[in-house]
Amino acid sequence: MFKLPELEYSYDALEPFIDRETMELHHSKHHAGYIAKLNKALEGFELDKGASIEKIIINLKKDIPIDIYWDIRNNGGGHLNHSLFFKMMSPKASREPKGHLLDLIKKVFGGFEGFKERFKSSALSRFGSGWAWLLLDEQNKIFIKSTPNQDCPVSDDKKVLLCLDLWEHAYYLNYRNRRGEYIDKWWNVVNWDYVTDRFEEFKN
Ligand code: MN
Repeated sequence: MFKLPELEYSYDALEPFIDRETMELHHSKHHAGYIAKLNKALEGFELDKGASIEKIIINLKKDIPIDIYWDIRNNGGGHLNHSLFFKMMSPKASREPKGHLLDLIKKVFGGFEGFKERFKSSALSRFGSGWAWLLLDEQNKIFIKSTPNQDCPVSDDKKVLLCLDLWEHAYYLNYRNRRGEYIDKWWNVVNWDYVTDRFEEFKN
């Protein structure tokens, strides 16, 4: 049985960029809802001992029987994506990545501002609900991608460095239909120390 991970900060800690009510609903209703449906879908299914949600989504196509495949893809993906996303934010946000990751971002995107523009444009072009990602592949290349619904790029053997929730429930209370403004403000709470640590952990 999967349990809702606790946030490492209070619901109002990301204000004024992400408001308290949005955070509370997002964590205690939306994230919790994905976990409840995931657990329901897994009833009667024998999981490997100690299987993490990440392992399940990495091996989705290989391990999960067709009758529960979409429930696990959507709700298991929802659980994993939100677990990642809430850690990507912090009230003590560092403004930029550091070290090798910063160098690489500058090289690939022509600067940190260039990276933010490309990420925003990918996020804005996602039609409907989904996610924007900064990913790392097996060749140590970083790239931006967006995916629909709760699909997670770990299912395609990519490592997640950074992710942004583009579902309206992530911003509608405060930003209404202004996804672009939500993205602009979100940079203020990105936990680049955590993103940088992930890069150092995953790069070959
Ligand atoms: Mn969400």
